[in-house]
Amino acid sequence: MTARQALQEARERLEAACVPDARLDARLLLAAVLDRPQLDVLATPQLPLNQAQAARFFEWVSRRAAREPLQYILGQAHFMGHAFTVRPGVLIPRSDSETLARLAIERAVPGCQALDLCCGSGALGISLKLARPDARVSACDISQQAVALTRENAQRLGAGLDVRLGDLFAPFSGLLFDLIVCNPPYVPVGELDTLQPEVRHEPPLALDGGADGLAFYQRIIAQAPAFLKPGGWLLLEVGDGQAKAVEGLLGPDFAPSRVHPDLAGLPRALETRRAGGVN
Ligand code: GLN
Repeated sequence: MTARQALQEARERLEAACVPDARLDARLLLAAVLDRPQLDVLATPQLPLNQAQAARFFEWVSRRAAREPLQYILGQAHFMGHAFTVRPGVLIPRSDSETLARLAIERAVPGCQALDLCCGSGALGISLKLARPDARVSACDISQQAVALTRENAQRLGAGLDVRLGDLFAPFSGLLFDLIVCNPPYVPVGELDTLQPEVRHEPPLALDGGADGLAFYQRIIAQAPAFLKPGGWLLLEVGDGQAKAVEGLLGPDFAPSRVHPDLAGLPRALETRRAGGVN
């Protein structure tokens, strides 16, 4: 079987399963199986696949046709230009969250002490540390799988991070940060079943934000002042249509907030800072 035949068959199977971007996904899977750049695969349509390669390719195509996210199959997701290892059990980093990552990088002053709360794969904290090597970055998650994956990604990408297991701020009792960045679970529980099929392969623990999607914002906003220096930043990703509600949760402990749009123009990253010490 040639690369062209394999791509054609895969594309038909993926299209039949209503996979968006069937052609692109087929190409990315084949490039990964052949361990060659995508363009190489296109440029050499007569390239033969051996039996093992063909078997592996069509196994991956079947998984994708079952709407498993491409990133879980490839074991990798790109975020802020870095390749993060991903696997089932931990949320896949989204390009939407790059808005929050950029904001954290902008707000981090030299030598600052930063915390990535609910770190998942470590995408936010690691991107911050790589862009601001003099920051001291901590990260935590309630999921043992997430903590293990953040440690693994930090080591592979060469980012020195202090990664701890626990519920929100619990592992950092007594510490004060200059900056806290967080992409909490924020999908209203009733909407979990309405998300695209790929998202149902991801852990509900990383998505379920309670009845109105705001459960974690309430807890984070209530606890954050005790873990922020005066004037310290609290940077939160918010879901579609949640910015106003989250702003409404900020009490007198926080300075007025600003909301930044993602690449699609949707309000996505909210910034505020602990009142006191703000010039
Ligand atoms: N952006 C994700 C989604 O809509 C949700 C991530 C989260 O809950 N933090 O699939």
